[in-house]
Amino acid sequence: MDYTQKDSFFDDSEETSFWTQTQFPAQEIKTELIDSMLIHKERELVKRKVGMMSHYLLLFKEQEVHKWVNLINATMELIKNPAAGQGIRFLKNKQRFEMYGDVEPWYNYLKKYCIQRCFSQRYSLLKKIGQGNFAEVFKAVSKADGQEYAIKCFRKQDLKEEVDKLSIIKETSIMRKLQHESVIKMYEVFEGEEYLYLVLEYLNGGELHKFMKKSPPFSEEKCSKLIYKLLKACLFIHEQGILHRDIKPENIMLRKKDDLEDLCICDFGLADYYNPNGKYLFTRCGTPGYVAPELLQDKLYDYKVDVYSIGILMFILIAGKSPFEGKDYDDVVMRNYYAKVKFEECKLSEHGMSLLQGLMNKNPVKRLSALEALNHQWFVQEKLAKTCQFKIRRHSNIKRLPHLNGSPIPTTNFLSPKNSFNNLSPQSLTRTDDNTPNSPITPVTPLQNKGKPIRKSIFKLQQL
Ligand code: ADP
Repeated sequence: MDYTQKDSFFDDSEETSFWTQTQFPAQEIKTELIDSMLIHKERELVKRKVGMMSHYLLLFKEQEVHKWVNLINATMELIKNPAAGQGIRFLKNKQRFEMYGDVEPWYNYLKKYCIQRCFSQRYSLLKKIGQGNFAEVFKAVSKADGQEYAIKCFRKQDLKEEVDKLSIIKETSIMRKLQHESVIKMYEVFEGEEYLYLVLEYLNGGELHKFMKKSPPFSEEKCSKLIYKLLKACLFIHEQGILHRDIKPENIMLRKKDDLEDLCICDFGLADYYNPNGKYLFTRCGTPGYVAPELLQDKLYDYKVDVYSIGILMFILIAGKSPFEGKDYDDVVMRNYYAKVKFEECKLSEHGMSLLQGLMNKNPVKRLSALEALNHQWFVQEKLAKTCQFKIRRHSNIKRLPHLNGSPIPTTNFLSPKNSFNNLSPQSLTRTDDNTPNSPITPVTPLQNKGKPIRKSIFKLQQL
């Protein structure tokens, strides 16, 4: 049975209204959809002009926007009324709005913004293909056309903590924003009685991590192609004002088996919108061994944390081992914290080494940005940048930290490497290896958490 209750996981408990009646804050009204629809007014059905501008539904009165609503994460359903025919119902914060007419184009347009019900009418789950920290991933087919998809399923019961709920809302909001050839595509989101379903493109080639395990260290040429693609995707992500914060081989997937040309950055579970004051849902997060030192050191950080992670990946691809290889997990954290990299273990040409050191510079101010890295001589040598330089130079509108005199800005609570990941307080929890649905969330020590991402939250609800 599909879920037809009024309550939604996405409701904001502090909001009780549906429409906003203040002036619509756009200078010019450019609608993607506009039509006359039947709507309920005092028990009657009346015709009104309605329009869609991006994700805003606008209700007009005498050519002016009378009221408007942001439909992101509103629930939508197709309905039928004996008098008015086919219609669409929107539910948000327990309030509803229904309109009748030629609603099909509206429904199709709004799939990318709204939450749908009736998942089981649209998709058949085939088999489980992955297990994340909070989600199970299934291969599925669309009942309409037999196309394959990956469905990331979150059990709502496991997302009772406000921070977990906000984290999923953020993940979906970020994925909706990112439409790029090297970023995983999210098509639609469904809510059922027990689960949330994210409909993603199915990536048949598996994780880069698995590919690397079975292949010898990469040649410089092969590595440069891959790093170039990743940097391009990373630049795009940064241009949207977003930091990924967990770039690592497990979160890079191939669309086709063994085809490194067609890769995708995945798992935006730790991504966030850049904030110059360091206010994030999770401030200290990422996977030890794959993160920038300033992140472990609890300093203010910016987009360059992702560049550092790409540097780590480049090191692993060429050297066939981690730059922070240590005798145990704590040793790895320690080396990562101090950015102790044995560059000599990476056999690279002069240009290759110059790029690697530029990506892995422990000082984020001196570290290359994604844009600067893309224009590096190594790629010109590998004939990748030549054709793209103009295109890349056009985009340089990334918000940055005010690094005034070249030195990173420390925060007051500078942590030692030992307590950097040891002193995670009860709010800063991550799941243990036991991923059974009802397993309690317990604080983890670094050894328990080996290789898994860590999230530490210092958020306040009001700040989000
Ligand atoms: P989490 O964010 O909870 O860690 P992930 O998004 O990393 O979850 O998904 C867990 C695993 O599921 C991945 O490591 C991968 O093997 C598999 N997976 C995830 N998304 C897809 C996809 N779109 N296509 C194929 N497999 C996927």
